[in-house]
Amino acid sequence: MGVAATLLALGAISEEKNRIDPKKQLAPIYQEIKTLRGLILAGEKQVSDLRLRQEERQRELAAILEKAPALKENIIRAKEKMARQRGMSLKDMLEIQQEVARAEEKQLRDEARMADIRRANEAYPAEREQLLARIKELKENYNGLAGQYNQEKAQADLRVAALISREEGMLEELTPAVATMYREALGHCPENPVAILEKGICGGCRIGLSKQLIKHVCQDGQPARCENCLRLLLPADAANR
Ligand SMILES: [Zn+2]
Repeated sequence: MGVAATLLALGAISEEKNRIDPKKQLAPIYQEIKTLRGLILAGEKQVSDLRLRQEERQRELAAILEKAPALKENIIRAKEKMARQRGMSLKDMLEIQQEVARAEEKQLRDEARMADIRRANEAYPAEREQLLARIKELKENYNGLAGQYNQEKAQADLRVAALISREEGMLEELTPAVATMYREALGHCPENPVAILEKGICGGCRIGLSKQLIKHVCQDGQPARCENCLRLLLPADAANR
């Protein structure tokens, strides 16, 4: 293979490498996996929060139940005092009345709160089950996608490795100066480092080139780089040279 044809083939390999770049190819599936991981973590946090709220309610219920007998006892005693009322000033009477009213109000609030807690307790197992089922489903999706990702990544890596080994072989066929020129063009335009010079225009950036450069590439058949985009320029008949 001539120098121009080798460079043309190297350019095609770079384009192919770029096309199958696993990082780009697998970006959408990787993103999906990341999203699923986020949803699983959020779901697990929800389960844990739900359990904490449940425990908190149990403590609250225990505290209400613990204080209930004393509260009840206070109301009974205050009512007894009011029943006796003899020798009691109006001010004391009003105070006791207010105390009973406050205690009864508290009793009602406690009962309402306990009813809320019991309702929440009844709903808890189903809520938890629902969250766990959702997490299980997310994990199944996650594992499926992760498997697909690993498989596709391994295949793409193999294809890239094969291209790299072909690339290395071809670079060895070139003189060090031309190989360096190719590597520099690759550094500037990794997606398509080689361009065809046709009708005085660089096929990469579509900019007209100097007469001297055109003669150098097309007549003398020497590799050179575009003055504008720095791609490696080849004559239109490179494949046959
Ligand atoms: Zn150019």
